[in-house]
Amino acid sequence: MPEISLHKPYPADSVSDWDFETDIAIIGFGAAGACAAIEAAEAGAKVILFERNSGSGGASGLSGGEIYLGGSGGTDAQKAAGFEDSTENLAAYLKMAGGPCADDAKCDLYADESLNHYDWLKAQGVPYRGNYLPGKHIEPMDDSTLIWSGSEAAAPFCDKAKPAPRGHVIQHMGWAGVGL
Ligand SMILES: Cc1cc2nc3c(=O)[nH]c(=O)nc-3n(C[C@H](O)[C@H](O)[C@H](O)COP(=O)(O)OP(=O)(O)OC[C@H]3O[C@@H](n4cnc5c(N)ncnc54)[C@H](O)[C@@H]3O)c2cc1C
Repeated sequence: MPEISLHKPYPADSVSDWDFETDIAIIGFGAAGACAAIEAAEAGAKVILFERNSGSGGASGLSGGEIYLGGSGGTDAQKAAGFEDSTENLAAYLKMAGGPCADDAKCDLYADESLNHYDWLKAQGVPYRGNYLPGKHIEPMDDSTLIWSGSEAAAPFCDKAKPAPRGHVIQHMGWAGVGL
């Protein structure tokens, strides 16, 4: 019998009894697992989500819920605050911020789909106040939405990609602990 370890996959043919059968097994009930489970269930799959902790959330539940979004002309929050944002500028900034090992194809895909991701989150009921908080912030101290969260406005980034505030924060008061 193979050694049971958290660090090595256990060979499927060594499992003597199976407790569940499902189309999709999702390991971990943080944000990534939750999003994958929702999409798989909506596509008609039988889904089981496995979480090793006593509750959902993971690092996502501890986080500030700040997501870097923009492009395609701008999100509703960017537009309401008077900022235009292009997909090209978002992608260019992501590639520069990612350093020499940035995956260009992933940055392009992220930028192309950014507004869709934002709309998807809102469609799930994720709340956004919609306002802009001027200045430079790591996270808002209040429940504001749109902040300058990166280094977009600083050289050399601003020389190669028109800057825009792109931090979009889920509505909750204060730093981190957004819950899930
Ligand atoms: C205090 C804090 C603030 C942050 N703020 C931000 C922010 O504002 N914006 C931002 O973009 N990022 C932020 N981050 C980073 C961000 O939270 C994480 O990158 C993100 O939540 C990762 O999501 P995830 O779904 O991949 O993992 P997680 O949310 O950690 O979910 C993984 C889940 O898998 C479970 N799991 C792991 N192994 C197993 C297993 N073998 N079997 C079953 N379950 C398992 C874990 O228990 C956990 O619940 C912050 C992180 C912290 C800690």
